[in-house]
Amino acid sequence: MIRVDISKGIKVGGFDYVVDMSNEAHHELRADQDNGQCDLHNQRICLDPDNTPQRISKTFVHEVIEAVNYVYCDNKIEHEKIQQLSFGLHQVMENLGVQFGKGEGV
Ligand SMILES: [Zn+2]
Repeated sequence: MIRVDISKGIKVGGFDYVVDMSNEAHHELRADQDNGQCDLHNQRICLDPDNTPQRISKTFVHEVIEAVNYVYCDNKIEHEKIQQLSFGLHQVMENLGVQFGKGEGV
């Protein structure tokens, strides 16, 4: 499995997004019973570092689609579709042996 490091952040539509996988993010997300969140106004993606690498990668794909939806699609993609797209893309990425997470690795 090739791990692509996302901990230094990403760019969506020319905007820098922080990817937060800290302990704080963990507590925030647990309180909301969420695996991840995308704060579109502060350009911050939170991922629960306590999840499995697979779950983190899947959640990252989901939050990226949320950001793309916001920047490029006027938020017109319904959340259910975002859910479906993220499962589909996650499956393709897993099949290619690519995971998104903290630090690079093979
Ligand atoms: Zn969502």
